[in-house]
Amino acid sequence: MTMYNKSLKQLSTSLQNKDISSVELSQYFLERIKQYDGELNSVITLNEEAALQAAAQADKAIQAGDAGPLTGIPLLHKDIFCTEGLRTSCGSKMLDNFIAPYNATAVDKLSQAGTIMLGKTNMDEFAMGSSNETSFYGAVKNPWGLQTVPGGSSGGSAAAIAARLAPLASGTDTGGSIRQPAAFCGITGIKPTYGSVSRYGMIAFASSLDQAGAMAKSAEDAAYMLQAMSGFDEKDSTSVNRPVADLVSGLADSIKGLTIGLPKEFFSAELDDAVRSKVDEAIDAIKSAGAQVKEISLPNINLSVPAYYVVAPAECSANLSRFDGVRFGHRCDSPKDLEDLYTRSRGEGFGEEVKRRIMMGAYVLSTGYYDAYYKKAQQVRRLIQQDFVNAFKEVDIIASATAPSTAFTVGDRTDDPVSMYLSDIFTIGVNLAGLPGMSVPCGFVNEMPVGLQLIGNYYDESRLLNVAHQYQQLTDWHTRVPTGFEQE
Ligand code: GLN
Repeated sequence: MTMYNKSLKQLSTSLQNKDISSVELSQYFLERIKQYDGELNSVITLNEEAALQAAAQADKAIQAGDAGPLTGIPLLHKDIFCTEGLRTSCGSKMLDNFIAPYNATAVDKLSQAGTIMLGKTNMDEFAMGSSNETSFYGAVKNPWGLQTVPGGSSGGSAAAIAARLAPLASGTDTGGSIRQPAAFCGITGIKPTYGSVSRYGMIAFASSLDQAGAMAKSAEDAAYMLQAMSGFDEKDSTSVNRPVADLVSGLADSIKGLTIGLPKEFFSAELDDAVRSKVDEAIDAIKSAGAQVKEISLPNINLSVPAYYVVAPAECSANLSRFDGVRFGHRCDSPKDLEDLYTRSRGEGFGEEVKRRIMMGAYVLSTGYYDAYYKKAQQVRRLIQQDFVNAFKEVDIIASATAPSTAFTVGDRTDDPVSMYLSDIFTIGVNLAGLPGMSVPCGFVNEMPVGLQLIGNYYDESRLLNVAHQYQQLTDWHTRVPTGFEQE
């Protein structure tokens, strides 16, 4: 089998058997990035020298018989994660010159597990977007169709995995940013329960929703990666202090007898018919493995996009106030006075979508509107969460399409923010509730990938990954490589 399509386990075995060294494997993927990324624009910073040094270290560990499943495995990090000594731009002009002085905890944990960071991936500016068109570094293209978007905001990570430029990539998901690009690019992505992965060193967008996770070819690969990045961190006050669950050993378990809930609100008019039929086929496959299905209702779920677009901008307006031209990033030329420094630095440093969010957020938090918008949105958020809590009394897993359509054409939705926001209608409720969710490739419509969304109960990532892995034992969608990227 071609090297780029090998599973993590296969790569790890090749490393342990010394069929290939980590230095060679890292060079191989660095070459693929150089060969293929010109047209995709998925990687915005390469870390070549340091990567090869780390790979040499990993080779020593392997020689010494001191290797884990991730030792020597190359990966990419979304450019929202602080990486010591390496530019961390968050896709923004504001941070174009920012070299982080420390690593995000997730980055540290993955490097302690032995992974090799090849570089940083492109993303929507400050993770605000669903198409990767808001990046200061230009749009990312979907390897399945270069005229289409890869989804967002972790579109660079998704496109890179789809094109097999690395075996693993990190992502973050505030309203769907791991799952929706995973669906559009035909890869597997998981966002765990809120609080499972530390947010320390992950540039904040909406702190009560932001959560990091893993993007990979398969559920099995994602399980290994997520396991390594999870865990309590005293540097993040919302980090959950509980032992990291074993995400790998239950993958092979039978799913016989599990109940899969199908929310009727998600199989509605918004869902493209062709996408729906692929999701129906996927659910049939899961049924053939012994699971049963049950129709459920999430009565308030239709309010999730409006509630999110109050809560997320409110938190973003507070979080992004730190970018003032003084402490971080872009500073305007020769400011007249303090007011001018703030206004011009922020005016020049932020793009249009980020400014729109900051203005919405400041508005909903302002005196006189706080009760009408922000407080109301928080109340709605609680109702949505309660709908999920009730649903999980009856079912083990919830399934739906990840996105209502396949990837749309570049430029199609940039002038219409509401149509852009609606591409997350099936994913956003999961963030509002803080639940784990994932997307698994389940077929193609007009040669563009379709994603099946699986949602789990709190801290039930191992069951989610188990169902996804069992589905991937029955299907081979996750092994497909887009045309043009399949040469060694
Ligand atoms: N697309 C959503 C937004 O623009 C979600 C982004 C995300 O999950 N980071 O806010």
